[in-house]
Amino acid sequence: MPVNPQILGKLEHSQKVLETPPSEPPTPAKLPSRNPTRSFWIDSSPDANPLARQGSQDPLPSDADVCIIGAGITGVGVAYHLIELLNNASLSVKNPLRIVILEARDFCSGATGRNGGHLTPAAFLEFAQRQALFDTVEAIKSYKLEQHTASLLVKIIKENGWASDIDLVEGGHIDLMFTEKEAGNAHKDFDMARQAQLNLDGVEWLSKEELEKEYGAPYSGFREPGNNVWPLKLVTKLYQHAHAHAGKYASLKLHTQTPVTAVTHETTDNSSTYAVVTNRGSISCSRVVHATNAYASYLLPFLTGPDGIIPTRGQVMATRASVGTDQIHIPSWSGNEGFAYWFPRPVKYYTEKPLIIIGGGREAVAPQYELYVDDDSETHPLVGKALREFLPSVFEGKYDPLSEPEMEWTGIMGFTKMGDPFVGAVADLLLANPDRELYQKQYIAAGYTGHGMPRAFGCAEVIGQMILAEISDKEWKEPDWIPQRYLTRNRRVQ
Ligand SMILES: Cc1cc2nc3c(=O)[nH]c(=O)nc-3n(C[C@H](O)[C@H](O)[C@H](O)COP(=O)(O)OP(=O)(O)OC[C@H]3O[C@@H](n4cnc5c(N)ncnc54)[C@H](O)[C@@H]3O)c2cc1C
Repeated sequence: MPVNPQILGKLEHSQKVLETPPSEPPTPAKLPSRNPTRSFWIDSSPDANPLARQGSQDPLPSDADVCIIGAGITGVGVAYHLIELLNNASLSVKNPLRIVILEARDFCSGATGRNGGHLTPAAFLEFAQRQALFDTVEAIKSYKLEQHTASLLVKIIKENGWASDIDLVEGGHIDLMFTEKEAGNAHKDFDMARQAQLNLDGVEWLSKEELEKEYGAPYSGFREPGNNVWPLKLVTKLYQHAHAHAGKYASLKLHTQTPVTAVTHETTDNSSTYAVVTNRGSISCSRVVHATNAYASYLLPFLTGPDGIIPTRGQVMATRASVGTDQIHIPSWSGNEGFAYWFPRPVKYYTEKPLIIIGGGREAVAPQYELYVDDDSETHPLVGKALREFLPSVFEGKYDPLSEPEMEWTGIMGFTKMGDPFVGAVADLLLANPDRELYQKQYIAAGYTGHGMPRAFGCAEVIGQMILAEISDKEWKEPDWIPQRYLTRNRRVQ
């Protein structure tokens, strides 16, 4: 399928990227900041991050088979899938595959530990545009991947009995339409998606009157299947599960507080490996996975700028409602063309006033929209103002316009101009580059453009499959849910 890499994705998250050239020539991302803002997920409870400093003092191994850089949902997801795949394949191996995760800061302290907590697969929005830009099969795969990822995560959560530990809420998601134009586009997407036989189970249109009566929001919208979680606790469970199930076919180690500062290629007479260089020494490694999302261009400078991965700062706050959950109910929400997203945290009693996690507000700092900002040690006052004003203006009487949030933080997303991530071998991005051979056994899954929760774990599964295929000298068979345009072999940056 021909994919034009110059396509401007119209998805909310990416639409401003090309309209907003960088104010200065872009430079590669820096390493994650040393003093990030305190997020609800990481810092509101002392036991939220039991793996925070895991392996930070342990000596690094001198050799490994797979080095995964980054301990967010992507990095941990690659380790999880690789171990599951190895166990299922029951390969006859001489030695277990040595997998090492290297994390610059505390465990899961990047976007995954600082996000809005939504695990909601897109149901149909943007279908018409995707169908026109690509083709029907490719457009359908955009949603199939998200349904696959979200339902796999929910299945894993339930099968392992983690639902209450990680605060899974399967409350559905309501998308509010603030303008006629937005509503018109959404109906067009829905009609085209239905004609193309996209799975639209659980989608229900809601009139302004229905939404006002039930929830107090004077807008029309639609309901779609959706969940929210405590993302850090979910990723912690995934890591612990992977660690417990490694053994016969793999070993898994985690080293936090270990920023990777370079990956260099080393060739000897009979082998070709990478030196993964950190502040605590180097690891000689056969394969490298870049699970660094917004920060990818630090180690892969050719991903700098609009054709690569653009660090983009998102802001979130935790604010208390003025009324009980009985008057707010439990769905998660988005509105204002996706610029705002929020949900009430679970409560013990329905009359309890819930804490609302609300993110967004980047429209308040147009035309830069916090693009090209890779520092999560600060919040933006204008974004904060937009977030404070949002809920009281949409739900009259349910939020106090003067109340201050209990916590407010930022995190860095990795945007691409297409709105879609890069998934696969790094070398494939560099077809015309004489250095491409050096990247042959380096992999990447990054650039989710926000909205990574229903995509990253599926993309990590693809990387796991590719590594297993390479190890077993077989061809990777692509699953029927991965969009072609995600794959690095269909994308070029140089
Ligand atoms: C404010 C905000 C709100 C969001 N809300 C939602 C939401 O509600 N729903 C949703 O689906 N998505 C949301 N997202 C997007 C989602 O969180 C991300 O797409 C997803 O978490 C990306 O996961 P990741 O593992 O690829 O990246 P990350 O979680 O960022 O992990 C990358 C890790 O790599 C580490 N790292 C970077 N460079 C190096 C290096 N050189 N050496 C070692 N380690 C390194 C970082 O410290 C980091 O821990 C939001 C993002 C933000 C920032």
